[in-house]
Amino acid sequence: MRLSRAFLPTLKEDPADAELVSHKLMVRSGMLRKLAAGVYTILPLGWRVTRKVEQIVREEMDRAGGQELRLPILMPAELWQETGRWEKYGKELFRERDRHDRDYVLGPTHEEAITDLVRNHIRSYRDLPLNLYQIQTKFRDEIRPRFGVMRAREFLMKDGYSFHTDEAQLAASYEEMRDAYAAVFRRCGLEFVIVEADSGAIGGDVNHEFMVTAESGESLIFSSACGYAASSESAKFRVEPAPPEKEAPLTKRETPGRKTVEEVSSFLGVEPGRLLKSLVFFAGPDPVLAVVPGDRELNEAKLARVLGHPAPRLATAEEIEKLTGGPLGFTGPVGIRDGLRTILDVSVQENRNYVTGGNAPDLHLLNVRLGRDVEARERADLSTAREGDRCPRCGDVMRLSRGIEVGHIFKLGTKYSEAMRATYLDAEGNERIIVMGTYGIGITRTVAAVIEQLHDENGIAWPFSVAPYHVHVVPVNVSHPETREVAESLYAGLEKAGIEVLLDDRDERPGAKFKDADLIGVPLRVTIGERGLKDGVVELRDRKTGQVDRIPVGNAAGEVRKRVEEALRKLSPSD
Ligand code: ATP
Ligand code: MG
Repeated sequence: MRLSRAFLPTLKEDPADAELVSHKLMVRSGMLRKLAAGVYTILPLGWRVTRKVEQIVREEMDRAGGQELRLPILMPAELWQETGRWEKYGKELFRERDRHDRDYVLGPTHEEAITDLVRNHIRSYRDLPLNLYQIQTKFRDEIRPRFGVMRAREFLMKDGYSFHTDEAQLAASYEEMRDAYAAVFRRCGLEFVIVEADSGAIGGDVNHEFMVTAESGESLIFSSACGYAASSESAKFRVEPAPPEKEAPLTKRETPGRKTVEEVSSFLGVEPGRLLKSLVFFAGPDPVLAVVPGDRELNEAKLARVLGHPAPRLATAEEIEKLTGGPLGFTGPVGIRDGLRTILDVSVQENRNYVTGGNAPDLHLLNVRLGRDVEARERADLSTAREGDRCPRCGDVMRLSRGIEVGHIFKLGTKYSEAMRATYLDAEGNERIIVMGTYGIGITRTVAAVIEQLHDENGIAWPFSVAPYHVHVVPVNVSHPETREVAESLYAGLEKAGIEVLLDDRDERPGAKFKDADLIGVPLRVTIGERGLKDGVVELRDRKTGQVDRIPVGNAAGEVRKRVEEALRKLSPSD
């Protein structure tokens, strides 16, 4: 490609609305433009990278036995009503209505559509396992679209689905997909960790996220040397039993206007960990009281899983008053109205004296004990792990790091196939429910994640495997005939050899050309200048290391080919 002809609008300044380096660099390097909040045009340079990521994903999915297909983006609401997600998916779901007043969904994910296809065609155990995938635009009305394509409302995803006779067959496919995902991200030149994750609204049990390690990541990861790694939404921690305390009588204490953990703990002079935080949620129509220690955060993802509802919502002040008899800020589990389901976090200890709300205005209770004052009927892991917590497996203090979730794999089980009656006949002729897995990769998010990991103060430093071009040829002064000649001939020769070349044939100052080259981040740059040509050499510069080698003009094409091929081999699939 000749830069003089390319639609490659680079910018000197960062866009005002960009926080993340990847977002800034994608806009500045001419990869991306915003059309509306969370909605972007991917320009030619960005599209080249996107397609390379797509192709790597495609190759690895095909290698793992996947077959690519294309499901509709527009889906009738009836399918989503069958699984209950029309109601449960919430506001992230883009809903549409046609001229006949029929409701539709713009696909945020495609379990319904694929299960509908499969139930109509799979008859026998002989048709299983089956692994289908697509690479397609997804729509999610994110509450806070931000960070460019990292969290967009319209984005590209690879979504795959597998169908099985039983859990054992699913487990084998799940392992294959896990390996395939690892291969994808390795080939994209990324450093990543695989973590145990929360299954969110999709449901199902075992699932893992692929996290690209980056300071800017939205996800918190807890890990320890034994190999345990989990996102903060699901990380467990070891609960160390605290030494038992002497029983003391349940005591009422006036706490005028003190509502928050901080206010109550400083007013009473007790540590926040001795308080119990009691929060009323609604899972659909059903109220629940969730109780966690005052020094821990209630984890909404864990709560959602325990309640089997994708998005429990906090009760309003009026609802709390009606349910508990006390105002917001004074809720507690003691003497709570019969029938209000109460769940205590596993880290709430037996044989300890706690402070809780008194379910009356300006009232707290002291010396609240499990068993005696609160019936600990239901216990669950409801709180978020925090710094200093110990690994649930080995007991070591866990390490905290940040990551970008680029991929997610789930063992779904029969959640969708049961709701949608997707069945097969086993060898004995019995009708059985198909067991499913689901697997997603954020294609456009992966592009951004590569930039988050591979950039410096001057711009992007692409790995060869996903770089928009392999080599950037920069003739320093295009009005110098020999310079132009050498550049043109190198350009033609490399193109012919199948190397992807960007030629900066613009009549620009050398400084501006080099700045653009660094910004765009093509891994190899060939600089052709008058001075070098006098010595019969051109300069080869490695974008990542900055290393410069002087190469005789006659060897330049050969040397570039060698380097490109070597680098691509390193990032190629290893069978
Ligand atoms: P997140 O927790 O980041 O919202 P998710 O759990 O909703 O992600 P999945 O439903 O598992 O995501 O989707 C599969 C993949 O699609 C994710 O791993 C991520 O890489 C990508 N993805 C999800 N939401 C977005 C988005 N709004 N913009 C870009 N990519 C996304
Ligand atoms: Mg999401």
